[in-house]
Amino acid sequence: MQVIENVRILHFHPGSVSEPTDIAIDGRIIVETGKALAAKYPDASRESPGGYVSPGLVCSHNHFYSALARGLSVAIAPSKDFAQQLVNLWWRLDRALDEGIVRASGLAGAADAAAMGVTAVVDHHASPEFIGGSLDVLREGFDTVGIRGVLCYEATDRNGRSGADAGVRENVRFADAVDAERKAGGDPMVEAAIGAHAPFTVDDRTMAALAAACSSTGRGLHIHVAEDKFDAVDSRYRFGKDICVRLDEAGLLGPRTILGHGLFLTASEVELVNERDSFIAHNARSNMNNFVGYNDKIGQYRNAVLGTDGIGSDMLEEANFAFFKHHDAGGAMWMDSFLGMLQNGNRLLERYFPGKRFGRVEAGYEADLAFWDYDPPTPLEGGNVAGHAAFGMSSRMVASTMVGGKFIVKNRKPLFDARAIAAMGRSETRRLWQRMEEVR
Ligand SMILES: [Zn+2]
Repeated sequence: MQVIENVRILHFHPGSVSEPTDIAIDGRIIVETGKALAAKYPDASRESPGGYVSPGLVCSHNHFYSALARGLSVAIAPSKDFAQQLVNLWWRLDRALDEGIVRASGLAGAADAAAMGVTAVVDHHASPEFIGGSLDVLREGFDTVGIRGVLCYEATDRNGRSGADAGVRENVRFADAVDAERKAGGDPMVEAAIGAHAPFTVDDRTMAALAAACSSTGRGLHIHVAEDKFDAVDSRYRFGKDICVRLDEAGLLGPRTILGHGLFLTASEVELVNERDSFIAHNARSNMNNFVGYNDKIGQYRNAVLGTDGIGSDMLEEANFAFFKHHDAGGAMWMDSFLGMLQNGNRLLERYFPGKRFGRVEAGYEADLAFWDYDPPTPLEGGNVAGHAAFGMSSRMVASTMVGGKFIVKNRKPLFDARAIAAMGRSETRRLWQRMEEVR
């Protein structure tokens, strides 16, 4: 039992800020918020960190496999479009990943997330030369650092039938292992989705295998769709239908489905995605970086969430870019809408972690919390949280991060071995560069 004393509870969406109050946490759950809780729970340990406490942030689409891509020092041929960039850069990167590099990537990605107040990451993993068992190795990062995750493997046809089958098998194996762990009385911090790269690299045979995997495991599909126009055009050219119609006919659009990007989905597809109650993950910085265009329909989705698509885990920055890009493109939504998308990540988590509640600092919710060291020069109130998030706050203000009632970062000191993780990352990155030069 622990009591966090005298903090202001901050909710980014709907925006609210409390008077100084206490938070009582029993094990992994918040049991009460209110005044004088230390007196009510005299045996509890006590903390008075000051500042603001918000629900932990959720990154709803990430690729920890590219955590070591920053500062990439490998000769990459220039690309004229996104398809060429996949071949020249991203598929050379993922083919160069082996067990050691995947381990170092997962640790580096998770450590970065923890420092940013991110308590859960939905990851989309690919390592075609190391498929079987890769999700266990990736998971080591989540477990070592102590963040939650929803993991999957990006099944794809681009390495032949055996590669596609191995990808689907890895998803099912991992989901079954999580189920077995829970059945044995465990409370795993990670969950499983069924992953696939993108419709243009998934033929109907693999699509059927993915549908079977979703139904046998009770999980949802996590896939990129229409990140570039090529994917949408290919679907209509090769399969004679829109991407989402193809997914829906395969039984793959449902309340646990996570669609990444979706820039070139049509109005009728948006409607279908909403009818099926599926999620769309918006990745504004990545879209800008890859020069694929702008998702001008993002405000029309019932369940839009925010991801970084591999560009770290700074979710306030991601929300900010989403907002600024939207305004720059002539859109009328305010920062508040993008904080709503950030908040929706909690709904996604609730659909994957049975029986758990996420995203509020209230009794009954998981104690997944971010502690903010923020002393604003203008009043911070419920009505102007979005303005502070857009123009004042930064994830660098996160002093402490708690997941399931346990601090994983406290007063800016990671409670995992961050130095060892960074050192391992640097040495594995040297190997990654070397291997990328070899796999042309
Ligand atoms: Zn992605």
